[in-house]
Amino acid sequence: MSDARTGTADIGVVGLAVMGANIARNLARKGYKVAVYNRSYSRTEKLVDEHGDEGTFIPSEDIADFVASLSRPRVAMILVQAGAGTDAVIEQLAEYMEEGDIIVDCGNAYFKDTIRRERDIQARGLHFVGAGVSGGEEGALEGPSIMPGGTPESYKRLGPMLEEISAHVDGEPCCTYISNDGAGHFVKMVHNGIEYADMQLIAEAYDLLRRGLGDSPAQIADIFESWMDTELNSYLIEITAEVLRQVDAVTGKALVDIVVDAASQKGTGAWTVQTALELGVPVTGIGEATFARGLSSSPVQRGASGPLEGHEQPIKVVDREGFIEQVRQALYASKIVAYSQGFDLIQAGNDEYGWDIKKGDLAKIWRAGCIIRAVFLGDITEAYENNPDLPLLMADEKFASKINACVPAWREIVGLGVASGIPIPAFSSSLSYFDGVRADRLPAALIQGQRDFFGSHTYKRIDMEGTFHTEWSGDRSETRWS
Ligand code: NDP
Repeated sequence: MSDARTGTADIGVVGLAVMGANIARNLARKGYKVAVYNRSYSRTEKLVDEHGDEGTFIPSEDIADFVASLSRPRVAMILVQAGAGTDAVIEQLAEYMEEGDIIVDCGNAYFKDTIRRERDIQARGLHFVGAGVSGGEEGALEGPSIMPGGTPESYKRLGPMLEEISAHVDGEPCCTYISNDGAGHFVKMVHNGIEYADMQLIAEAYDLLRRGLGDSPAQIADIFESWMDTELNSYLIEITAEVLRQVDAVTGKALVDIVVDAASQKGTGAWTVQTALELGVPVTGIGEATFARGLSSSPVQRGASGPLEGHEQPIKVVDREGFIEQVRQALYASKIVAYSQGFDLIQAGNDEYGWDIKKGDLAKIWRAGCIIRAVFLGDITEAYENNPDLPLLMADEKFASKINACVPAWREIVGLGVASGIPIPAFSSSLSYFDGVRADRLPAALIQGQRDFFGSHTYKRIDMEGTFHTEWSGDRSETRWS
């Protein structure tokens, strides 16, 4: 490396595929000198050739030169394929970096990997920041939502740059320090889980509308577009209308009727559900959304369903506008449940891993830049600002009054979906969850009795302290075990 370039870059980006190239451009456009490196040099050349005039890029062909081009304390953002690719790059960087330097992993890492990596890297005198980044290609360039973890000390150096390149709402950045080690990637994981739920709920609303009204995809697009004027206003509703309006150039049919109905997943939904199971938190909306993708992608089971009879009752919609409004309300109520559950999971992760996550701040940084950006998130911020210890988001005064107003339509629509054989796993499980948290008594008492019967697992009584067991195979008398 020539001396003139040594130590001149404000920040570096490793990995110049879709996300890395756009983050590097975003940084350069904001006036930062950006060191860039990619395993295959062709991507680096492409970035500099096509966008070199957008700012100052300092390209390197090898990692040693890349590190040398950074000013101290050095900051290198990694945007490579999550998993083994990330570990390989971290190792290469750590070899050349020095005490106090900062490695930032902006990939979709599993938060437990981030906890491990932070521990290993910190032992080598470096800082490690796991930062969740949402917004895809466009967000990376124009302003993503960024969720950085790591040490508060590293945020002092890194934070101002990340905040500057993030999306902004009312002058506020969609980036804030989340908490230590894996907290940033944990909240990004739950963000993606909520995204799964939101998408599934929208898909179920579309299915109900299409089958109920017999409308074309373009007509349903109009309905979704009109919902942009309601509390459902969000990026996902907006793009739903666009996707439904798209016409296939080959057949002239609606694209949505040409696309194979098997939804893929890259893993963050499954991580969210696995983590929720580990922490014992019901995230039924996210779970059903993840399983619905699995069902859609199960050709063997779907292909073998021939002998099964549905006994469906066809939907007869007499009041078109009334039906559309009922579906909208059912979607809105189910969405509140999905977000409420997602925030429960964040709270549980926070407690389990000793973080200090501010839930109101999360809703604030998700208001723009990310895939779940929505007007609705402003209400969530307000709810947590009014009460940071709110135990159940949907029971916040404002949300409770909104969800309560939707309940009659919600029940009607779920009943209609069930009767007419339209699969609505996320709508119906959200309503069941709502009824579950509201119930004075749950049949869990019976389950406790069954558990005690076959496994002497004991039970508690509502009328006295202690743990009890019934002698089920004996005289059925009750003994107090503690
Ligand atoms: P990809 O996930 O497709 O990864 C490709 C990049 O990883 C290339 O630069 C490739 O280098 C590099 N790479 C792969 N393996 C290695 C390795 N062993 N050593 C060095 N470099 C390696 O790129 P994306 O831009 O789509 O995503 C980057 C990260 O951002 C991922 O972790 C992804 O999960 C995350 N992310 C992506 C979003 C998106 O919308 N795409 C949104 C939010 C986060 P080479 O060119 O040499 O092959």
